[in-house]
Amino acid sequence: MRNVVIMGSGCAGNTAAIYAARANLKPLAISGKDAGGQLSLTTLVENFPGFPEGVDGPLLVQNMRKQAEHFGAEYVHGDVIDTDLSQRPFRLNVEGEWVETRTLIVATGASARWLGLESELQLIGKGVSSCATCDGFFYRGRKIMVIGGGDSAMEEANFLSRFGSEVTLVHRRDEFRASKIMLDRARHNPKIKFLTNTVVDEVHDAAKGIVTGVRLRNLQTAVVWEQEVDGFFLAIGHIPNTKVFKGQIETDPDGYILSKGGARTNIPGVFHAGDVQDRVYRQAITASGAGCMAAIEAERFLEAEGH
Ligand code: NAP
Repeated sequence: MRNVVIMGSGCAGNTAAIYAARANLKPLAISGKDAGGQLSLTTLVENFPGFPEGVDGPLLVQNMRKQAEHFGAEYVHGDVIDTDLSQRPFRLNVEGEWVETRTLIVATGASARWLGLESELQLIGKGVSSCATCDGFFYRGRKIMVIGGGDSAMEEANFLSRFGSEVTLVHRRDEFRASKIMLDRARHNPKIKFLTNTVVDEVHDAAKGIVTGVRLRNLQTAVVWEQEVDGFFLAIGHIPNTKVFKGQIETDPDGYILSKGGARTNIPGVFHAGDVQDRVYRQAITASGAGCMAAIEAERFLEAEGH
């Protein structure tokens, strides 16, 4: 029987693990298949306080884990495939093995969104990617396309411009969600071309098993055209990872956990941390802060119950 189980090993999960471990609760952190969370898919993080020169994202998250382990947190690798939160102890099925816990911190984050085109999905890993950091290297001197109009799209386009011969940024509107500084940086990058009011109707060539181009459509003029592309990168947001709690933890219609104040969910003893609940700030530092809050709440909850 565990005092605290933490699902997730991104900034939120690792920070919760540091705090819970230092409270002597011997937490178990379950790192899913996307261990390390969003930071493990980035390069330089320039806005995490304490690093005036910036810090490598994967290194930052690895160091958080090391820090948690140093204080006695345990990590297991595996996906939680089923949960029973109807009574305490809560039960979690980790790839066939049930784990019991008095409290649960849900720090499962949010996963990349795809356009949903059949051709796109067939070509994931064959030219279609949601991770510029992971796959940019493969497109040295090639034609790259990035989809999206938020900070992620700007960041990825800028990053990919180091590799590609050209980067085309495709956005469905002519206004951008991206912050001004990120947008300006992309606009001033001579390798990045903007296509606004434009959507992708098809990714070629599923039959060949490799990306060769796309069919684009201008939403204002209805003009349709083909463009050659080698690397097709999605940066259109994320989907919260809450499927495994469906019908148990209350979520909004998009699946983000509904907070009941602090780090509390609708189930006493189950706490939320990070992007799985946060659709507004979604930063490494806010996720870490949320992990800290969840661990403190779990500690107080256990103390109030005499554990
Ligand atoms: P986002 O801000 O939600 O932007 C998603 C973009 O994808 C939007 O422009 C949206 O278009 C577009 N989109 C969504 N679904 C689409 C679809 N089916 N087809 C075509 N386009 C679609 O997501 P994000 O850029 O990943 O950013 C998430 C959060 O992380 C934000 O708070 C952001 O500031 C933060 N972030 C910060 C940094 C940084 O500071 N270094 C870097 C990355 C992310 P519409 O605009 O038309 O809805």
